[in-house]
Amino acid sequence: MDLFEKFNEDRGPLGQHSDMDNTNFYMFPKLEGPIAPRMQFRGKEVLTWSLNNYLGLGNMPEVREADTKATEDWGLAYPMGARMMTGNTKYHEQLENELGDFVSKESCMLLNYGYQGIMSIIDAIVNRKDVVVYDAECHASIIDGLRLHVGKRFVYLHNDMESLEKQLVRAEKLAKENGGGVLVITEGVFGMSGSMGNLAGVIELKKKFEFRLLVDDAHGFGTMGKTGAGTDEHQNCQAGVDLYFSTFAKSMASIGAFVAGSKNVIEFLKYNVRSQIFAKSLPMPLVIGALKRLELLRTRPEMKDKLWTIVNAIQSGLRDKGFNLGKTQSPVTPVLLNGGWKEAANMITDLRNNYNIFCSMIVYPVVPKGVIMLRIIPTAAHSLDDVKETITVFEAIKEKLDAGVYRDAEISQ
Ligand code: PMP
Repeated sequence: MDLFEKFNEDRGPLGQHSDMDNTNFYMFPKLEGPIAPRMQFRGKEVLTWSLNNYLGLGNMPEVREADTKATEDWGLAYPMGARMMTGNTKYHEQLENELGDFVSKESCMLLNYGYQGIMSIIDAIVNRKDVVVYDAECHASIIDGLRLHVGKRFVYLHNDMESLEKQLVRAEKLAKENGGGVLVITEGVFGMSGSMGNLAGVIELKKKFEFRLLVDDAHGFGTMGKTGAGTDEHQNCQAGVDLYFSTFAKSMASIGAFVAGSKNVIEFLKYNVRSQIFAKSLPMPLVIGALKRLELLRTRPEMKDKLWTIVNAIQSGLRDKGFNLGKTQSPVTPVLLNGGWKEAANMITDLRNNYNIFCSMIVYPVVPKGVIMLRIIPTAAHSLDDVKETITVFEAIKEKLDAGVYRDAEISQ
């Protein structure tokens, strides 16, 4: 049988909605124009709420200038090798020092991408004797990292400390028998629900159990904590996080990632994280661009304050109108509605086509069947007028959804 034959039968949970002729616009839509709350979509201006650009750094003149100058000075792809071989520069090391300092860790290591970075960290720090315990809502990159783990792993119910404790009892017992250790993995802010990981609660359990804690703070870095140093700063528990990880893909509005921890552990990672050892290092424009972004993030707290003004306005505005935002405690703003795939597709079409609002739509299997989640990512670049307009539109589309408009008709694209 031809290997590819099976794709005709089963295109996967998301691939079943694939659109080879590119006629619909809920999958792989093309936003155009400079990164901003208002961008072009199919020749029309839309108000966008789905850019990973929390602080508005993506198109800030100082940032663009730094990126451009670094590209002029160094070219797009310098240096020409892996960090360990020929890919190290003083700028890479400066960025690591500044990031480590910012998140209050002794040492730090750059990673090319968040996804492969965290997979490789997990791969490097646990072996077959070790046991991993992780939150059920952890990101796909963590789950894929766990696939590389040849030892045991136990999952605990999302943010449920009783469930974690139960799994720690099992994990500790097994690790002891094996002569290994225990690693707990959770996130600072969960990117779909917006809920905060109960980091302080997890760390409290260190009094009863012996384990190390790895936190993926992709959505918390730059948005949470007094200085923006992350969710552990917000919860006043930085010392209890053994490895702090974040990507540059959200608040930094860039590409790249880092992990920070004690000197000894980071030194070990530098020699054992395979996605760094066997891959070209982060190119100079990204490194120098990240230095500029970090400088702005540290010196302009008004960006974070503005982000939170927008977050509070849109979340309280939507809640006041009766919308269900689940358990968000962060800028991530999920709007939970009832309906199936057809209603969701019709609704997002209407929203983008007739109301000129662009946000992401998430359906099963990411959320349970029968739930439609519209995910809003506020940024510091949005205005209070943008918030007002969006709330009015959301009221209108919810009314249509409740009246069954999206169930019956096919909204034209
Ligand atoms: N971890 C989390 C929690 C994420 O949301 C993401 C997605 N950006 C990643 C890791 C992967 O990061 P990157 O986009 O840098 O590969």
